[in-house]
Amino acid sequence: MRQEIAFVEKEELKRKPDTASLGFGKYYSDYMFVMDYHSEKGWYDPRIVPYAPLTLDPAATVFHYGQAIFEGLKAYKTPDGTIQLFRPEKNMQRLNDSCERLCMPQIDEEFLLSAIKELILTEKDWIPSEVGTSLYIRPFIFATEAYLGVRPAQEYKLLVILSPSGAYYGDQLNPVKIHVEEDYVRAVIGGVGHVKTAGNYAASLKAQEKAEANGYAQILWLDAKENKYVEEVGSMNIFFKINGEVVTPKLNGSILPGVTRDSVIELLNYWNIPVREEKISIEEIFAAHERGELEEVFGTGTAAVISPVGELNWNGRVITINDYQIGQLSQRIYDELTGIQLGKKEDPFNWTVKVAHVEV
Ligand SMILES: *Cc1c(COP(=O)(O)O)cnc(C)c1O
Repeated sequence: MRQEIAFVEKEELKRKPDTASLGFGKYYSDYMFVMDYHSEKGWYDPRIVPYAPLTLDPAATVFHYGQAIFEGLKAYKTPDGTIQLFRPEKNMQRLNDSCERLCMPQIDEEFLLSAIKELILTEKDWIPSEVGTSLYIRPFIFATEAYLGVRPAQEYKLLVILSPSGAYYGDQLNPVKIHVEEDYVRAVIGGVGHVKTAGNYAASLKAQEKAEANGYAQILWLDAKENKYVEEVGSMNIFFKINGEVVTPKLNGSILPGVTRDSVIELLNYWNIPVREEKISIEEIFAAHERGELEEVFGTGTAAVISPVGELNWNGRVITINDYQIGQLSQRIYDELTGIQLGKKEDPFNWTVKVAHVEV
């Protein structure tokens, strides 16, 4: 399957946006990676082509039955001009886990990673280098077969698009207000909550809209069965620091196994800070606050890295965490992870993968 990647050159390149206006997911680079799949041929025709709209059959199964999965990772430019990725092999593995759950074909992880590196190299001028910025990489796969029967499709497309993204926060991490959701659920055990499939995000919008209407930034999701145990915050994993110890919900089949989550756990172990993965009820969190032991709460994910929580509202019971200030540990983890990602700190875990070195 080690195939040559074809290249179709574009005549006129786009004008690059100002770093200040980047935001998230608003701009796309000049080229994209595309590859097709047919059950009789396997994956074929890998190519880097000008970024452009797609033509799809209206009966393409993705529109009707939702076989669509994705990944999200970032490329960083370090001060000395190294372009690097953060644990990309984890994203490749998770892409295949998502495919497996949705009855979609497996990809060759090494090949896709090499294709992503080639695309990044083609688009190296699109990687911003200011503090907090990066090039967001979005690989995704969806069913393209024109067929209205309900069964796994026999044809798919894999694309990788790139989007320069700005600093998630300005100069400092901003604690956010979180609404604990009791009416809507994100995912159920036995369902698809543990993989990155499009439908999960469609299903989350209603609750998110409701939270925003009430002045909350994100949802804290509880388990779908008992409405009792903490699962995730928005589309991030969640951590609590209680009386000097850190806890995060144990992966149970409805929680997404985040790369950032895994990295935070490894980092805490490395620092000899106690960290446990376990079932945590929302009641326990509020009880810890009552005892004055709830020290920090933060979400983790590729986009924000660390997102401190300043307030939790559970059915009208409102608690504030660390007086809306960023916790010391949250800040330390953020500095360490972003330091490693941006090549400013030692990487004792060998998490970064070099793509190339460019002139700065
Ligand atoms: C992507 C995602 C995360 C975070 O995963 P990372 O690999 O750390 O970016 C957490 N929860 C959900 C629901 C997600 O989609």
